[in-house]
Amino acid sequence: MNVLIVYAHPEPKSLNGSLKDFSVKRLERAGHVVQVSDLYAMNWKASLDADDFPGRQAGARFDPSLDSKHAFENGSQSQDIALEQEKLRWADAVILQFPLWWFSMPAILKGWVERVYAYGFAYGVGEHSDTRWGERYGEGTLAGKRAMLVVTTGGWESHYGPRGINGPIDDILFPIQHGILYYPGFDVLPPFVIYRTSRIDEAKYAEARDALGQRLDALGTTAPIPFLPQNGGAYRIPALTLRDEIAPGRTGFAAHVA
Ligand SMILES: Cc1cc2nc3c(=O)[nH]c(=O)nc-3n(C[C@H](O)[C@H](O)[C@H](O)COP(=O)(O)OP(=O)(O)OC[C@H]3O[C@@H](n4cnc5c(N)ncnc54)[C@H](O)[C@@H]3O)c2cc1C
Repeated sequence: MNVLIVYAHPEPKSLNGSLKDFSVKRLERAGHVVQVSDLYAMNWKASLDADDFPGRQAGARFDPSLDSKHAFENGSQSQDIALEQEKLRWADAVILQFPLWWFSMPAILKGWVERVYAYGFAYGVGEHSDTRWGERYGEGTLAGKRAMLVVTTGGWESHYGPRGINGPIDDILFPIQHGILYYPGFDVLPPFVIYRTSRIDEAKYAEARDALGQRLDALGTTAPIPFLPQNGGAYRIPALTLRDEIAPGRTGFAAHVA
C-alpha cells in the first residue's frame, strides 16, 4: 500500500518522533511505500487566509469557502495545498499522528486540514438536493482509503474511560474520526492511543512500540469503525437525522456507530 503519515510534533527526539520513525521503518519493511508530511519540519502554514489563493481578484471580499472552491476548480491554489492533496490521492492509507493538545490535534495539524480539505475536494462534493445531500460520511473523494489516528495523551486511560473526567476517548476523537476522516470518505480504523506519556520508560516504550507495530501490520485488514453512512438509508434527507428505527433511544456521538 501507499501510506501517508501526517505528523505533528515540533521535536524529532520526542516520543511521537521516535514512534513516527519506527512506523516508517515497520511499514517499509512490510513492503509499503511511505511518505511523511512532517508539518513542523515543513514549516507548514497553519492558517487559512487569502494568501492561499494567489489568483483571486485584488481587493475583493475574501470568502474562505468560495475562494477555495474557485481555486480548486481552476488549479490556482497555493502549491503547498495542491501537493498535500496529491499525497492524499496517492495514499491507500493515511495516518494522522499527534500528541493530544487541549483535547484535540495541535493547531498546525488543524490548519493542515482546513487548508488541504478544499471545497470540491473534501466537501461540497456530489449532488446537493432535497433527496441527496452530497457525497460525504462514507462517500466522497477519499472513499476506499483507510485512515487511522495515532495519538499520545498525558492523561491516564481511566481519565478517558466511559465515566472518566475527561470524557470517553471515542467522544473526544469523534470530531476528528467522524467529522474530518469519515466525512470525505475514509474508512476509519480504531485509533491507536498511548496514555500517561510521562510514565513512559524503556520497558513501556517497547510495549507501546510493539503494540503499534501490530496495528501497522494490520493496517490493510483491521475492520473500520462502523459509522453509519449518510446515504445508506439510516438518515432522513434533508433533515439528516437518524430514522426512528435506527439506534432507538440513543443520542449523541455513539448513535452514529452501527
Ligand atoms: C499544549 C499542550 C496541551 C496538552 N493537552 C493535553 C490534553 O488535552 N489531554 C492530555 O491528556 N494531555 C495533554 N497534554 C499532554 C500531551 O498530550 C503529552 O505531553 C504528549 O502526548 C506527550 O507526547 P510527546 O511525544 O511530547 O512525549 P515526550 O514528552 O517526548 O515523551 C514522553 C515520555 O516518553 C519517553 N520517551 C520518549 N521517547 C522515548 C524512546 N525512544 N524510548 C523510551 N522512552 C521514550 C520520554 O522520556 C518521556 O518520559 C498537553 C500538552 C501540551 C504541551
